[in-house]
Amino acid sequence: MRKSRFTETQIIGMIKEQEAGLTVAEVCRKHGTRDVDALEALVQSLRRLPGVGIKSAQRMAFHLLQHDREGAQLMAQALLQATAQVRHCQQCHTFTEKDLCSTCTDDRRDATKLCVVETPADQSALERTAAFKGLYFVLMGRLSPLDGIGPKDIGLQKLFDRATDGVVQEVILATNFTAEGEATAHVIAQALKAKGLQVTRLARGVPAGSELEYVDLGTIAHALVDRR
Ligand code: ZN
Repeated sequence: MRKSRFTETQIIGMIKEQEAGLTVAEVCRKHGTRDVDALEALVQSLRRLPGVGIKSAQRMAFHLLQHDREGAQLMAQALLQATAQVRHCQQCHTFTEKDLCSTCTDDRRDATKLCVVETPADQSALERTAAFKGLYFVLMGRLSPLDGIGPKDIGLQKLFDRATDGVVQEVILATNFTAEGEATAHVIAQALKAKGLQVTRLARGVPAGSELEYVDLGTIAHALVDRR
């Protein structure tokens, strides 16, 4: 049976208050049931997250309030702290709490090589390989005209200024191999090649450890074209 959060005596009291002329809204306000507004606000704010619909948002809100209030408090504090402290690196655009991120200020890195990625997550993936010792420019997105994301939104001018600062000699395009990622790479490559820079693209090929018969045909075709 559903447990009411009010006692029987309180509910009888509310009925009497209504009989005495108070409106439902006034009774609700008096007994703090406007908390439901706070719950609704929580659900709506969770819905702001990508891929979260109304049902998932409700599930998350109920979970936090029912089983993990401490986690909810920590989450709220982390959100406040992150939104107040995290900003973009002035040089590479990635997230940092300082003017320049730790990669940009690392003088062991090769400043003549600039790798362009879509997101900090992509940058982390490349860093984990330990195969690249140059610097990065993080677009924080990709060109996507249908979503209204144009060159200004991903800081292309800032990238062009950086790439032509006289230090950078090679720009490695490591945007994703999606239609938007390829289009973004194409636009950047055209602009930078026109300025006489060496522009390269991550190679596409057969995944390490895979057997050819199980690899999709598109990947095999690209691997053949980009063979070396
Ligand atoms: Zn940086």
